[in-house]
Amino acid sequence: MSMRAILTDMKVVTRFAPSPTGYIHIGNLRSAIYPYLVAKQNEGTFILRIEDTDRARYVEGATDLIKDTLQWIGLDWDEGPDKGGDHGPYFQTQRQEIYIEWAKKLIAAGRAYADPTPSDQIAKYREEASKNKQAFLYRNYRPENTPEWEPGMPLRFKADPKERKYHDEVFGDKVMLPETQDDIIIIKADGLPTYNFAHIVDDATMGITHIFRGQEYLPSMGNYLAIYEALGLEPPKFVHLPHILAPTGNKKLGKRDGAKSAVDYRADGILPEAMLNFLACLGWNDGTEDELYSKEDLIKKFSINRIQHAGARYDEQKLIWLNGQWIRKLFQENPKALFARTKDFWPEAAAKYSDEYKFQVFAIIYDRLKTLGDLKTMTEYFFIDPTVDLSMVEQNKALKKLSEREIQDALRQTVDKLKSLEEWSPEILQNALNELLENTGLKPAQLFGLIRLSISFAPFSPALHDTLSVINRERALARMNAVITAYTRD
Ligand code: GLU
Repeated sequence: MSMRAILTDMKVVTRFAPSPTGYIHIGNLRSAIYPYLVAKQNEGTFILRIEDTDRARYVEGATDLIKDTLQWIGLDWDEGPDKGGDHGPYFQTQRQEIYIEWAKKLIAAGRAYADPTPSDQIAKYREEASKNKQAFLYRNYRPENTPEWEPGMPLRFKADPKERKYHDEVFGDKVMLPETQDDIIIIKADGLPTYNFAHIVDDATMGITHIFRGQEYLPSMGNYLAIYEALGLEPPKFVHLPHILAPTGNKKLGKRDGAKSAVDYRADGILPEAMLNFLACLGWNDGTEDELYSKEDLIKKFSINRIQHAGARYDEQKLIWLNGQWIRKLFQENPKALFARTKDFWPEAAAKYSDEYKFQVFAIIYDRLKTLGDLKTMTEYFFIDPTVDLSMVEQNKALKKLSEREIQDALRQTVDKLKSLEEWSPEILQNALNELLENTGLKPAQLFGLIRLSISFAPFSPALHDTLSVINRERALARMNAVITAYTRD
């Protein structure tokens, strides 16, 4: 049965539940994409919930960063901060009463107790367990007499360890052993709930049908299942996502493995389309060889049962390659619209130039860009005259064989020819360059290489006739003359 068929009689509600502890790690962002896609393809609801109960790790401004990042890659939430709905509030710190109400249900059922044990005593228990080479389980030290719970006291869940089975949408049928189940803290001394408790209450009260989150939560499933059971709740579907692996493939992607934050990639000129495409395909494919997926394609094609079990390797080169593909695709669809998105990426020297001129530059260079950030390094000579650097001519493989005299002659002939052209257009320039090739008897790599270097002193430029046509005649000739003069001076 298809996912769609299974879900027809149930409104799909998914969520992304980040903690505002800094920028969104790239791996976390994937945990936002899949629930978004599943909600959209089922005409369901996608909720953004901010899990801000860990005050020690809270970072000011992180929520805004999360919201910006989601909006940037096009994951608009149906309910969440700044967008009301039936399931608010959407910040956990504003839901305290709800957690207390649910915690009281557990107390009433004899499934939660106030823990009077001081933390240094707990530390001693831990030491003892480690001395005896035993895994530490708090329930082995459960206090006999517990006071009545009141705010300010940690509240613990009372475990009833047993084998618990569940089906994971990615990892299949799972059995959680009794040793994984313990008396975990559900409400901390500061009155706020732990993740372990809060997410269950929130997912239940928000009507979440599918939980998408990293596989690091798998080992805790025994505890979660026990809490669902104690609260009389039907667990939702669990979609645990395999780790994203470091580029080396042998460990989980960490902060030091070169993956930047979404904000940094954005500043480098990675397009949100490429980022969404890249992250969605980290560990998922639709079974074809296709590589380019728009958000609409993904909404159509994504399916949970094609998420790979094995961790996906984080390959930044793939992201950059995809970005280049997206630049080409978007240019072909609507060049002006893509150009409008290049504003922040031009070299400083471009500021004085009109959009019309910059668009001409963009139109001849876009298909060589890997990121919009490349504009900064690859287009400078369209805006300022480059410094003549004869060593670049001397080190050029094709030009090495020519004498200074031959170089000057070739440039002189070029200047004369181009001076006389009736029109300064790519076609006419192309013909003129071909004639020059014949007249000088030089090889294309020599003649074109020389002209290219003289006008750009850059390692690379777009097709020569295009480059010349954009840089105007006066300027192009002046640059070639400057090289001739530099040789004469030497
Ligand atoms: N706040 C948790 C995190 O950022 C969310 C995990 C979940 O989605 O349940 O890892």
